[in-house]
Amino acid sequence: MEEYPKTLTEFESWFLTEEACREYLARLRWSGGFRCPRCGHDKAWTANKTLYECSRCGRQVSVTTGTIFQGTHKPLRQWFLAIWLVTSQKPGVSALGLQASLGLGSYRTAWVWLHKLRRAMVRPGRDRLSGRIEVDETYFGGRSEGHEGRRRGKKTLIVIAAQEDGRKIGRIRMQRVPNASAKSLEAFIRAAVEPGSVIHTDGWYGYVGLKALGYVHESTPQNRLDIPGAEEDLLPRVHRVASLLKRWVMGTHQGGVSHEHLDYYLDEFTFRFNRRTSRHRGKLFYRLMQQAVNVAPTKYSDLVKDVRGKRHNRK
Ligand SMILES: [Zn+2]
Repeated sequence: MEEYPKTLTEFESWFLTEEACREYLARLRWSGGFRCPRCGHDKAWTANKTLYECSRCGRQVSVTTGTIFQGTHKPLRQWFLAIWLVTSQKPGVSALGLQASLGLGSYRTAWVWLHKLRRAMVRPGRDRLSGRIEVDETYFGGRSEGHEGRRRGKKTLIVIAAQEDGRKIGRIRMQRVPNASAKSLEAFIRAAVEPGSVIHTDGWYGYVGLKALGYVHESTPQNRLDIPGAEEDLLPRVHRVASLLKRWVMGTHQGGVSHEHLDYYLDEFTFRFNRRTSRHRGKLFYRLMQQAVNVAPTKYSDLVKDVRGKRHNRK
């Protein structure tokens, strides 16, 4: 069952009431049957279509319990519209744009909602990339993207993996890394790429250990400092992704992305990029909804902790 609205008109007619929204969530969440979040039992009495009571322990489970919608004081219809706006538009939406579109009283609410949704953009247990993969790091932020080698100033270093699909780009993964050491780069690659894959990098020594980790490593040495632009030909996919990412952050978000939260923006960019060829944008709406009912809620205090630079563990 992959049912999703394909147009704004369909979206509006499907989700006219809170009841319709709850029933949609219930179909997504319990498509494989009920599962009690307290005791794991799979039998329940139904109080109504969206409220279940575990027949073993008596726990009452509403369709929003244990999802990113848990405890919300706002109508589900408003959440649904937020998800529609995030997914139906190619570049997504900024917190300011969301606040205006939904008529939310505060910017903070819009900001929090977008961050909650970003937590649902990474599917737990997703596949790693495989095949031929380009990997490189890029600096993010700061005024210039100058040629300063791997030294780290005020900019943030991110590492990008882009799958080769003929001459085109397949799927991608990206992450913030503390530095370009072998330890940092290898941790990212092991999480993002299936062993046995061919990994294409430049000659940076941080990549020399890949063979020992079970990858086929192709490196093309080059002098980063002397030949500006030479990289463009060497690893074209990963550099294309880096420039699209920067354009998105400058465009949709007007550059207003703090380094502490960058990973979550990278998750959103990746979610969008890896589904860019979907025939219907509604499919992204469906995927995000599906993951939103399967991802545990993030408390506001945890979102704010990020602001202070103390990141909680990501799932
Ligand atoms: Zn139970």
